[in-house]
Amino acid sequence: MGNYNIAVVAGDGIGPEVTKEAMSVLTAIGEKWGHTFTFNEVLAGGCAIDAYGECLPESTLDACKAADAVMLGAVGGPKWDNVANAQRPEKALLGLRKELDLFSNLRPAKIYDALADACPLKAEIVEGGLDILIVRELTGGIYFGERGYREGKYGNEAYDVETYSEMEISRILKNAFEVAMQRGKKLCCVDKANVLESSRLWRKVAEEMKSDYPEVELSYMYIDNAAMQMVRNPKQFDVIVTSNMFGDILSDEASMITGSIGLLPSASLNGTNKGMYEPIHGSAPDIAGQNKANPVAAILSVAMMLQYTFHLSAEAEAIENAVTAVLEAGYRTGDIYSEGMIAVGTKEMGAEILARI
Ligand code: NAD
Repeated sequence: MGNYNIAVVAGDGIGPEVTKEAMSVLTAIGEKWGHTFTFNEVLAGGCAIDAYGECLPESTLDACKAADAVMLGAVGGPKWDNVANAQRPEKALLGLRKELDLFSNLRPAKIYDALADACPLKAEIVEGGLDILIVRELTGGIYFGERGYREGKYGNEAYDVETYSEMEISRILKNAFEVAMQRGKKLCCVDKANVLESSRLWRKVAEEMKSDYPEVELSYMYIDNAAMQMVRNPKQFDVIVTSNMFGDILSDEASMITGSIGLLPSASLNGTNKGMYEPIHGSAPDIAGQNKANPVAAILSVAMMLQYTFHLSAEAEAIENAVTAVLEAGYRTGDIYSEGMIAVGTKEMGAEILARI
């Protein structure tokens, strides 16, 4: 039994609709297991621009820093498309990641038997289900490296530099090894070590660390091969760890093969497993306020919170099992609806999951 403080940044568009369902599920978990989850609802994104004139007010940042974990809905929308760059709603996410030092991004890609038809791959490739977790380095590498223009051999040229320190590599690998220990104990380090010096440093650090995790089977794969294997034989993967840019691409590829962005959660963690949890989808302005959004990604995000920040595995599993049971019972929001299924809205989907906790 514990007390947990959660900062809730519901955000814009469907963000508030889906986070509301996720909070209800957490409250039900608390009632069943005797935990107290306290929610501190704060503004970031477009709604914060409207209320305070800035996308990430100091008070929101302070609340997120003070909390044990952060639940985020989604930010942005057409209303704020013309806001100056520094205050774009999406900048709130970058600010939160930076200020909370969230360097490790966890993106599961799971195919539910009940939704196997939504997978664009041949049935035999994903038969028996698929459950991959991609651990992406989030605050280093080429997206944050030195960049600029200069006069080169052929005239004006631009450059972006990929840099990784041993410290940055070892902390993300530690995280990935620990996550692998909680799952299938297989870790694949994806890189381009045949070409890139920085990739060779990743391998060196991984080799030095692997004796600390003797139960984890460590392997390496080049990114080009990994992109191919992801559609050829994705079931071979358990946990993948990779750099910022490779992870950006590979995690989108993996999410695509599951068939729906309305189902996929994510976590971003710091060095002490404090984290920000959010669905991978955006604010979906086209369906906002219409009770059409799928709340499953947000609900599974709080399951990840229970597992990775609060280490409450049984409670996390109860949420995952409830989601599986609801999908097996045929309940579908519009994004995953197919003929013969039971069409429901956001609130009804949330209620069905809640009823199975
Ligand atoms: P989006 O993910 O919001 O929507 C893409 C499509 O998927 C839309 O048709 C939408 O209706 C559908 N969709 C998304 N989530 C769904 C759900 N839970 N249930 C049912 N259908 C769902 O991406 P977009 O349209 O490119 O972006 C819309 C806004 O969201 C933009 O302002 C963008 O910058 C922002 N955005 C925010 C985040 C974030 O907060 N993490 C991520 C991506 C995009």
